[in-house]
Amino acid sequence: MALVRNNQFLNLKLSLPKVSTTSVPCCFPIAAASTTVTSCTSNTVSVSELERINVLGSGNGGAVYKVSHKTTSEMYALKKVKGDMDSASRNQLLREIQILRLVDSPYVVKCHDIFEKPSGEVSILMEYMDLGTLESLRGNAVTEDQLASIARQVLKGLSYLHGLKIVHRDIKPANLLRNSKGEVKIADFGVSKIMVKSLDKCNSFTGTCAYMSPERFDSEAADAEEDKSNVYAGDVWSFGLTMLEILVGYFPLLPQGHKPDWGTLMCAVCNGEPPKAPHGCSGELKSFIDCCLRKKPSERWTASRLLAHPFLLRQD
Ligand code: ATP
Ligand code: MG
Repeated sequence: MALVRNNQFLNLKLSLPKVSTTSVPCCFPIAAASTTVTSCTSNTVSVSELERINVLGSGNGGAVYKVSHKTTSEMYALKKVKGDMDSASRNQLLREIQILRLVDSPYVVKCHDIFEKPSGEVSILMEYMDLGTLESLRGNAVTEDQLASIARQVLKGLSYLHGLKIVHRDIKPANLLRNSKGEVKIADFGVSKIMVKSLDKCNSFTGTCAYMSPERFDSEAADAEEDKSNVYAGDVWSFGLTMLEILVGYFPLLPQGHKPDWGTLMCAVCNGEPPKAPHGCSGELKSFIDCCLRKKPSERWTASRLLAHPFLLRQD
């Protein structure tokens, strides 16, 4: 199978493949000097006006800081990515910037500005989401109504992105952020891809493999051409797993407390039955999860169809 050669990724993270500039057109002129690039917003903020408060987290490319605007006291998240990155990391960053520039939705974390230092260090000024990622919900008892509210917002974000022909490819609890206004937004476009050409099947193994759909995990097994080209369905699978994880409090493809390894994960995703909502759940929620986690991408519901599912309609 296509993926077995990648068995070095036992921590469930996959490195990015080298991306040619033909698949990601270089139309993002980051300023060469320490100037502000204002393409994401009309309200330009200068770096010197920002005060660092604390570190929010760190990812592959660098750290994310909570910063405050000195005069307005407005809080932001500032993602800093070092200049001395390898070409794969730079491609990942350029993809993220390109996508951040395109999107404008209440369900996607807003990019306010992008800065570059002469050293090459790039900073992305983002909307600050004060409650962090959905990972923090793990272990909390989440009610069906709360889950429906989260699901509705994420699906509106996904439906918006898919409408723009953007496939996220890394939907998971760690990439969904929430704030104290009850809002949930999609973040982290590091491995997203704009489907520039219909031929671009987006089957490269990027993202976090634990949340990958069967057809992305094992693209050779995806029999119909239609299944291979339905790249948006991969996001819906990852979304379904994420919702189930928030509900049950652990990664739902493996027994609770089980440490995942590549082989077990591949068997669970590709050979096992899709996981189901627990017995005590309502029929609507069971059906909702089932519609997200159909193994055949052509049978999986789309994000916009899921928005009309009875589980989400019952208390809108
Ligand atoms: P990777 O590089 O693999 O994508 P990552 O997703 O953890 O890793 P980042 O997207 O850089 O890396 O984010 C790191 C952490 O910073 C997140 O897990 C989250 O806790 C925090 N964070 C990121 N963006 C924001 C934001 N806009 N508001 C609040 N916290 C944020
Ligand atoms: Mg992330």
